[in-house]
Amino acid sequence: MARHIYKSIEPDSQGLIHYPPEGNQTWATLYARQCRLVEQYACQEFVDGIKQIGFSVDRIPQHVDITRRLETFNGWGVRQVPALIPASDFFTLLSKKCFPAASFIRIPEELDYIMEPDIFHEFFGHCPLLTLKPYADFMFEFGKIALAAKPKDRVQLFRLFWFTVEFGLIQTKDGVRAYGGGILSSKEETVYSVISDIPKRIPFDPIAALRTPFRIDIIQPLYYVINSFDDLFNLISRDPLKMLAEARELGDFAPLFEVKGKAPEGCC
Ligand code: FE
Repeated sequence: MARHIYKSIEPDSQGLIHYPPEGNQTWATLYARQCRLVEQYACQEFVDGIKQIGFSVDRIPQHVDITRRLETFNGWGVRQVPALIPASDFFTLLSKKCFPAASFIRIPEELDYIMEPDIFHEFFGHCPLLTLKPYADFMFEFGKIALAAKPKDRVQLFRLFWFTVEFGLIQTKDGVRAYGGGILSSKEETVYSVISDIPKRIPFDPIAALRTPFRIDIIQPLYYVINSFDDLFNLISRDPLKMLAEARELGDFAPLFEVKGKAPEGCC
C-alpha cells in the first residue's frame, strides 16, 4: 500500500496555502505536460472544463479559487482534506457537493507516478468535469447512496466509481477518449488507455463493473467505455444497491492482474 510520505499543508487564516517554489514548479511542469496530452486523448468535455475553470499555469491553484469557479457551474466546491481520509468522510463530502482534495503535491522523484492522490490528481483529474451536469450530479447522488450503504457494500460499490470517475473511457465521434481522473492525471496512462492494444476496452455495463476486481497500484488492464455522460447519471435511477446484489449473486470475475495477497481496492 501507499507509503504515506506526504503530509497535508495547512492553510493560513485566509484559507490560503503557501507552497514552496518547487511545489509550484511541479504543478507548472505537470500542467503544461497534461494540457498537451489531453487535447489528443481526452474527451472534448474535459478539455472544455479545463478552460472553464481557468487553472493557474505556473503555481498550484488555491482551493478557495477552484471553489469559486466550480460553484458557478453545478454548485460544487473543493474541500481541503488530509492526504488520506476514511471512506465515510469521503462520501459525506460528495453528498454535500464538496470534492475532497489533498493539499500536497508530489515530489519531483514521483513526477510520473504517485500512488497517493495529490492536488494535481484532484484538481486537474476531477475538477474539469465537475463543470458538466450529468457527471457532477452522478457524483452527488453516488455520494449519498454510498454514505447510506453498509461499509461492506461501500467497498464493492466503489467499483462503479473506479471504472467511471477514475478510469473511465467514453466513445466519441473521433473514437474512444479518456475522461477518468486517474487516467488524465497520469502521463503514461493518458496515452496507454486510448491507443495501446494491451488493455481490454469493454462497453460499460454497471453489473459487470461491480463484478470486476481492480488494483490501485498498476496501469489498468481493463477499461469500461460509456457512450455518453448521461450513462453515468442514469446509473442512479437503476438503483446501485440492487445492481450490487445482482453482481454479488453472479460473483466476481477472475482478476486480470497477478494477485499477491489481498488486492488493494480503495478510495479515490
Ligand atoms: Fe481520484
